[in-house]
Amino acid sequence: MDNHSASAQTSQLAALARLIGNTPLLAIDYFFNGHNRRIFAKCEQMNLTGSIKDRMALHILRSAIADGHLHPGDTIVEATSGNTGISFAALGSALGHPVKIFMPNWMSSERKQLISSYGAEIIHVSKEEGGFLGSIRLAEEFAATHPNVFLPRQFQNTANIEAHESTTGPEIHQQLTYAGLSAHAFVAGVGTGGTVMGVGRYLRSLNPKVRIHPVEPAESPTISTGHKVGHHRIQGISDEFIPPIVDLKALNPVIAISDGDSILMAQKLAARAGLGVGISSGCNFLAAVKLQDELGENSVITTIFADDNKKYLTTDLLRDEPIKTDHLTPHINILGISVLNRCCTFCNADHV
Ligand code: PMP
Repeated sequence: MDNHSASAQTSQLAALARLIGNTPLLAIDYFFNGHNRRIFAKCEQMNLTGSIKDRMALHILRSAIADGHLHPGDTIVEATSGNTGISFAALGSALGHPVKIFMPNWMSSERKQLISSYGAEIIHVSKEEGGFLGSIRLAEEFAATHPNVFLPRQFQNTANIEAHESTTGPEIHQQLTYAGLSAHAFVAGVGTGGTVMGVGRYLRSLNPKVRIHPVEPAESPTISTGHKVGHHRIQGISDEFIPPIVDLKALNPVIAISDGDSILMAQKLAARAGLGVGISSGCNFLAAVKLQDELGENSVITTIFADDNKKYLTTDLLRDEPIKTDHLTPHINILGISVLNRCCTFCNADHV
């Protein structure tokens, strides 16, 4: 946006708000362990830039403008492993802010190219410079030494949680309510933890017994151990530490899912159901399946498909993944999908 005035920003924010959130809720029918079952998943790949992070970026920028922390023309500087950078790059360009993204240099090339396509600058951070934690440190150092910088600080900014408490959670509840259902559980892989904490907080405010489970890669159990362990291929979750906004005491136990199984499940969602989603979506689906084994085949388990598969075209998602004996995906048959009523946040009507 070339017009940097506050009133131009207000009208751009209103336009962006109509392109972000209010996503469909899928009911995915599948056969597993001798039973027909159903899992519910929000289509977050349908947001403006193709991921759930648009919700957080929009809410953080809107709150910062309202609170006077972000002024027209300020540079937005964030450390991110990918989707957040894409969201801030797009929203920054729509609102007339320069954007600078610090990110580990091993993230997929599609992510880097997308960020650049929105006109943002990327600073690549190597393993030697500290990788993910190094990116956060360098972003903070840049802000401390330059004027007119806004740091969203997604890992510690409670507006990240509020974004999901005020949109993702209520949407899931309304969409299930239209179908005469209510959630027994919500599961989600933890990147910043904004999704699991925010949706969890909203669903628990309606029913304190709702199960809210964080999900992590079995190969890299950062949430269970508290520090970086091993390596995994589920980009977007389990970075190198437990984010400050995650309160594990408020959550149910962590569910661990292997990265190979997540890749196989994401491949199956695309090849058998036409759902081109990313690796963390395969992971979330499997975590929901695992929990449904425990809670019963009629339990209402909800999750999110965080992004689409287009950012993973050069990754193992598009390669042959070896099947292991403990993988769940080979035993899951997808029977079909249906879409639960979409609700409109403006008129509250049903627009199926
Ligand atoms: N999946 C993907 C692909 C992501 O990019 C992210 C965000 N890092 C997540 C899941 C996790 O979302 P959150 O940061 O809200 O925990």
